[in-house]
Amino acid sequence: MGISLENIEPKDQIDPDLTCLLCDKISEKPKVCQSCPKVFCLPCFRIEVANNDNKCPNCKIHINYDNVSYLKSPPKEWFEKTNELTIKCEDCSEAILQYSNYEEHRINCQGRLSSIDEILAPVREAANEATRRFD
Ligand SMILES: [Zn+2]
Ligand SMILES: [Zn+2]
Ligand SMILES: [Zn+2]
Repeated sequence: MGISLENIEPKDQIDPDLTCLLCDKISEKPKVCQSCPKVFCLPCFRIEVANNDNKCPNCKIHINYDNVSYLKSPPKEWFEKTNELTIKCEDCSEAILQYSNYEEHRINCQGRLSSIDEILAPVREAANEATRRFD
């Protein structure tokens, strides 16, 4: 989880507060625990908390895994800061995104679809080859 820092610009504006304590990338589905301000990706946090005796990896407070009220969204400023960065989609390098539209882009990304095309290309070629033999 998380957005790789290689795809973020400008690099000197990447605040450590914007990265997930667990994966060191820009946090995706960011959450904070009620007792400390450190931001985590929700999936990273779930894995860590489950492996860590249900304790927050930062402040060590006990977290009931099912009690989502222990997790809240980061403050508005977190999103404002993150939105100042530009994000390059790792599948279609031409897209320069903002955090606020990154997730939606990833769902609809054409680059992702074309990489599936690339995987299928040899299969299609083989199929064409097979039909050509009957010409
Ligand atoms: Zn993470
Ligand atoms: Zn905590
Ligand atoms: Zn893309």
